[in-house]
Amino acid sequence: MRIILIGPPGAGKGTQCQRLSGLLRVPHLSTGEMLRAAVRAGTPEGLEAARFMQAGQLVPDPLIVGMVSGRLMAPDCRDGCLLDGFPRTVPQAETLDDMLERRAISVDGVIELAVPRDELVRRMLARKRADDDPEIFSRRIMSFEEQTAPLLEYYGRQGKLASIDGLGTADEIFERIRVSIDRFRRRARIRG
Ligand code: AMP
Repeated sequence: MRIILIGPPGAGKGTQCQRLSGLLRVPHLSTGEMLRAAVRAGTPEGLEAARFMQAGQLVPDPLIVGMVSGRLMAPDCRDGCLLDGFPRTVPQAETLDDMLERRAISVDGVIELAVPRDELVRRMLARKRADDDPEIFSRRIMSFEEQTAPLLEYYGRQGKLASIDGLGTADEIFERIRVSIDRFRRRARIRG
């Protein structure tokens, strides 16, 4: 199955994706993690991306698309993958749809982890990461609201969106995700 997790920074996508990757037995593809690895390794992509990441802005599409398309074509993604942090804009989603369509496959379902803004700030203050500076963090939330939230409508129109409450324990949230995945599975079976 090909599943996308969408949620604002601090919604818990990474934690849930790790568990979900075990359940679905497909790789967890996190563009944020790939970029942080490129920054650590000091690759040209990493150097270019770092400027944007440090400012709480999205990295330009060509860099991201180049990185993800290679990864999506890897043999371990043949039976599916879990996308975390990609797509993040409608143009990225359109590119993804084109990439998959060329191979006669598609996204099976999209899960939105909905978390109110004040809870995100509370969680951010409880953890520490280089781009977790309060000002940069609020810029990342703004970027989510302006550039990524329109994806909810994009996938809603395709009938692929499940919005779930991102408040509660990790176990409770995982259970809600599992229920949505079962629904995606049934629908994929009906579609044949
Ligand atoms: P994340 O760990 O998913 O929150 O990503 C950390 C940072 O990496 C983001 O704030 C962006 O600067 C960058 N990034 C990750 N994924 C993307 C993407 N799909 N498009 C553009 N920038 C991204």
